Amino acid sequence: MSVTHEIIEADDSSVGVLLRQDPELAEILFAEGRRQSTTLQLIAAENFTSPAVLAALGSPLANKYAEGYPGARHHGGCEIVDVAERLAAQRAQALFGAEHANVQSHSGSSAVLAAYAALLRPGDTVLALGLPYGGHLTHGSPANFSGRWFDFVGYGVDAETGLIDHDQVRTLARARRPKAIVCGSIAYPRHLDYAAFRDIADEVGAYLIADAAHPIGLVAGGAAPSPVPYADIVCATTHKVLRGPRGGMILCGSELAERVDRAVFPFTQGGAQMHTIAAKAVAFGEAATPAFAAYAHQVVANARALAAHLAAEGLVVTTGGTDTHLLTADPAPLGVDGKTARGLLAAAGIVLDCCALPHADARGLRLGTAAVTTQGMGEREMRAVATLVAGVLRGTTDPAAARADVRDLTAEFPPYPD
Ligand SMILES: *Cc1c(COP(=O)(O)O)cnc(C)c1O
Repeated sequence: MSVTHEIIEADDSSVGVLLRQDPELAEILFAEGRRQSTTLQLIAAENFTSPAVLAALGSPLANKYAEGYPGARHHGGCEIVDVAERLAAQRAQALFGAEHANVQSHSGSSAVLAAYAALLRPGDTVLALGLPYGGHLTHGSPANFSGRWFDFVGYGVDAETGLIDHDQVRTLARARRPKAIVCGSIAYPRHLDYAAFRDIADEVGAYLIADAAHPIGLVAGGAAPSPVPYADIVCATTHKVLRGPRGGMILCGSELAERVDRAVFPFTQGGAQMHTIAAKAVAFGEAATPAFAAYAHQVVANARALAAHLAAEGLVVTTGGTDTHLLTADPAPLGVDGKTARGLLAAAGIVLDCCALPHADARGLRLGTAAVTTQGMGEREMRAVATLVAGVLRGTTDPAAARADVRDLTAEFPPYPD
């Protein structure tokens, strides 16, 4: 610790400035940095963003008020941040082959709120994956605006296979005539069949909204099919597999561009966060490189390896595997439920989430490989991780011993190598 302090105090980096002015808060930043780099990050929604993205986030653009859109702002002095926002939007359009990109959404949830605001009226019927099967809060949870303001109907997944049953989606769509159909999930491990959803939406005259918060980074890297040719509106986050700053974005065709823009500002948000938008531009630039495509494919290879090794250790992997960066699994055969498992693994320095399992009462585990792949881990390390996870859950590996192995493993793969 004191070594870190000396090094940072010696230079006048922004962290050094913070340490001198506010050591109490600086300690918290160091502690979180240490936690992230010495424990195993298997939360499917997380990643390590690049030093360049972090630099944009900590830049003077954080000072700028910029309500409105480039060339049409409610504040003066926006001529330079306008260039940043245009660049971010152009890069997003090129990366995803979209006619229009709105890069102002503060988060994934804000992007979904704006998509609904652009297409729906309160009380409209919306069809989405039910929350017990991996729907997001914004897909009709009674605790969220979506469940309060719209009439959500949930489709599910097949009890045997865990796969979305498009016949059920079509039957519900015919019976309920939704104004919009949402496809997208926080836990579905397989590629979505966007063409099938488009076909159902067309049959009943519904809009198709793809909430691609999770897979959009795989789409950018060519490791998952793109919803852009099929959905009227694509909502996404920029901080999950895509590895950018925390935030959201919306992609759509030119015919909906104006409605989407107005739904973001002024309908659901105020001033754009220009430092985050600049950081999004950096992330889109990174995601357009061959290195990122290789990364996205390795993320999937790692998730497949992790799923296969966990299954070999006795966990029941939903759908039998994964096409994406995430998998869900029931640890019950090892004698624990998901909630207990999360606690045991936390003691071993293995950080992951519990999740609902389709057609099960007990909770399961959700694991993702975006962050560990950014650290440079590969299939060999996924095997070691699966062995550690299973040993801790079965009670044959002492969590303290596993913690030491996790320290060794993470020391070999620092998220921010010097
Ligand atoms: C992560 C996620 C969101 C919300 O993103 P936030 O930035 O946390 O608001 C919305 N929808 C889906 C499917 C997600 O996975």
